[in-house]
Amino acid sequence: MNLARFPRQRYTPAPTPLVRLSRLTDLLGGPTIYLKRDDLTGLTGGGNKTRKLEFLVAEALAMGADTLITVGAVQSNHCRLTLAAAVAEGLKCRLVIEQRVANSYTPDASGNNFLFNLLGVEAISVVDAGADLNAAMEAIAADLVADGRRGYIIPGGGSNPLGALGYVACADEILAQGFEMGVAFDQVVCASGSAGTHAGLLAGFTAACFDAPVTGINVRRPRVEQEANVHALAVATAALMDAPAPPREAVLALDDWVGPGYSLPTPEMFEAVRLLARVEGVLLDPVYTGKAMAGLIGLIRRKHFTVNENVLFVHTGGSPALFAYKDAFGHQDRATA
Ligand SMILES: *Cc1c(COP(=O)(O)O)cnc(C)c1O
Repeated sequence: MNLARFPRQRYTPAPTPLVRLSRLTDLLGGPTIYLKRDDLTGLTGGGNKTRKLEFLVAEALAMGADTLITVGAVQSNHCRLTLAAAVAEGLKCRLVIEQRVANSYTPDASGNNFLFNLLGVEAISVVDAGADLNAAMEAIAADLVADGRRGYIIPGGGSNPLGALGYVACADEILAQGFEMGVAFDQVVCASGSAGTHAGLLAGFTAACFDAPVTGINVRRPRVEQEANVHALAVATAALMDAPAPPREAVLALDDWVGPGYSLPTPEMFEAVRLLARVEGVLLDPVYTGKAMAGLIGLIRRKHFTVNENVLFVHTGGSPALFAYKDAFGHQDRATA
C-alpha cells in the first residue's frame, strides 16, 4: 500500500522480528506456528498501540497540539504508550481511566498503572464503566482551551481509521517478511479488542490481495458485536486509503476465550502464559495475548488447522500488565527448594 502520503512519526526503527516457534510447534503437534513480535515495537514497553500512534501523533503535531488525551482501562497498555509518545515528543498527556471492573482502580497498583506515574502523566480522571468516555475527554480538552492550551483526543485503543493504518503497515511488513523467509502464511490469529489491529490487518491484507483467514480472539465483546465493529472499522480504513473494502465474510472474531469478562483471568489464559514463558521464553499478558494464545491453542486442539499449515500469531504486547497479576498467578510459579 502507498501509505507514504500519511504523515508518520516513526517510533520503531526497523521491522519487528517474525520468528518460527519450533518448540511450541513440536509440543502442540499441530501447524507450524510463527510469531510476529509486535511486543518489540518502540516506545516504553512496546506493543501494538505504538504503530497506531505513529499516525495519530503525527496528526496531533500537525494540528499544533501540546497535550494528548486518551482513555483506557486500569491496566491500559494504550494509555501507557500514548503517554510514552507524549514524552518522546515533549507533549503533556492526560488520561481518562475507565473502571470496566467495578472499583478496580487502585492509585498505587503495579504494572502499567505504576508506569503512568513514572512516565509523568499530567492528570488521571477515573470514571465508572458505562460513563460517556468521549464526553469525559471533550471536557478535558475544553479545560485545556480555557488555559490557552490545545489537546488532541485519541480514541480508546487508538482505533479509528487513521490509527488502524498502523496495522495496514504491519500487514505489508508481514507479507514482505514471509517472502524473504520463503514462508506462505495460511492463517493469521490476533487478539481483537478495540478492533484497530484486526481491522487494519484485514484492510492491509485485502489491499495486497492476500486472502488467508485472519481470526480474531475477542477479549471483551460477544462475537456478533465484535465482528460488526471490526468490519465497520476495516471498511472505513480501506476508504481512507482508497483501497477495496474487506467483505463481511472475511471477519471472524471468536468469543470462546473471553471467560467471565474483560481482564478477568481464565484457566486457559494462565496455561497459555505459562506455556509461552517456559517453552519459548516469550512473555504474554493476562488481558489480551494470554487469552488470544489460549484461543490459538484451543483452535489447534479442535483441529481448526491442518498440521502442514503455517499459522502466524501476532504478539500485540502487554507484558508490563503481567506484574499487576502476580498474586493471581499464585505460588504455582515458584521454584521448589
Ligand atoms: C490493545 C491491545 C490489544 C487489542 O488490540 P486492538 O487494536 O485494541 O483490538 C491486544 N493486545 C494488547 C497487548 C493490547 O494492549
